Formats: sequence, structure tokens, C-alpha cells
Amino acid sequence: METLTRFEIDLNQAAGADKELRWHIGDTFFGDLDATLIEHGDLDATLRVYRAAGAYRLEFAVTGEVSVPCDRCLEPMRQAIGTRQTRRVACGDMPGDDGDVITVAADDPTLNVAWHLYEVIALAVPIHHVHPEGQCSSDMAELLARHTAQPAAATPAAGAAASPFAALQGLFAPDAAPQPGHHTDNSNT
Ligand SMILES: [Zn+2]
Repeated sequence: METLTRFEIDLNQAAGADKELRWHIGDTFFGDLDATLIEHGDLDATLRVYRAAGAYRLEFAVTGEVSVPCDRCLEPMRQAIGTRQTRRVACGDMPGDDGDVITVAADDPTLNVAWHLYEVIALAVPIHHVHPEGQCSSDMAELLARHTAQPAAATPAAGAAASPFAALQGLFAPDAAPQPGHHTDNSNT
């Protein structure tokens, strides 16, 4: 977890510095966070901290690429990310994060933004994310199956054999019945 200490910031100092903080985020970031949705990534992140009336506003900007499981085939796929998101930080007695406002102690306004940064990235992944058409591993499996499968219903007799009476057809048809009184054969007498 040692690498996550680089995301620990003093909000007063960051707000006073009037310049943005920068990080490069790679696989170890996601590994250290024990993240499950995103395990690989290559991103650049910046953070600007603004202070106003005892509270802070954090402005995150992240660009790069992550690897997430495809919705359709569950195999990893690369997803480009480009996002700007804001978080509010208040000072209070109970440091924490209620999902809307992050609270830090008034006398010690330090915050590790690693998890907040992860949330910013995770929220930037489109809800529906799939491989480009035809590149899913399920598509490949289907394609392979289609090429190796035997052609179905290759025997034409199968349909005719379905009715056991088919062979009797014609024997009882009146038109086809022989007419004994009208032999018109040209055979010799
Ligand atoms: Zn896929």
C-alpha cells in the first residue's frame, strides 16, 4: 500500500499552492486498491484544490485508458477515459465520505484521494461497454463453431419418411385407376 501514500495531500497546502497536482496511474494503483472492476490502466490524473469558507472543492481530471471486462463476452477490453469531476470536502468532527460530501478534520485537513480518484475513473467507464463488433471472444467461438459444425438436415429422405402413408398415395386415386373396358393398347391380337 506504500505507493498510495503519494495520494495523501494536505488540502490547505494544495489550495494555497495554486497549481495542480499530477499523478500517473498504472496497474499497481489498481492492485494496491484491491479494485475488482478495473485491474489495469494507464492514465494521467490531475487535481486542483480550491478553498472557500472552510470547505474545499476538488477538481479531478483524468485521461487515458483502462482495461475492463466486456459486457458481452467478459474478456478484457480497452476503454478510453476522459473525464472531469468535482468532489466537495467539508470540515467536521467525523472524517468520512457519505458519497456526496467528504469530511476531513478541521484541525488536520489531510486526505488520501486514491480511492476518490478510483471512483472518478470507474464512473467514467460507460455503463455499456463492449468490444467492437465481431471482436468479442464469444463471436470468435461462434464463428469457429459455425465452421466446424456439420450441415444440418442433409438427408432429403427424412421429410418423405415422416408419413408412413406416403407410399400408398396414388393407389386409391380414381383418375389413376386402370379402366378394364377400354384397353387401347396397340399390341398384336
Ligand atoms: Zn467482448
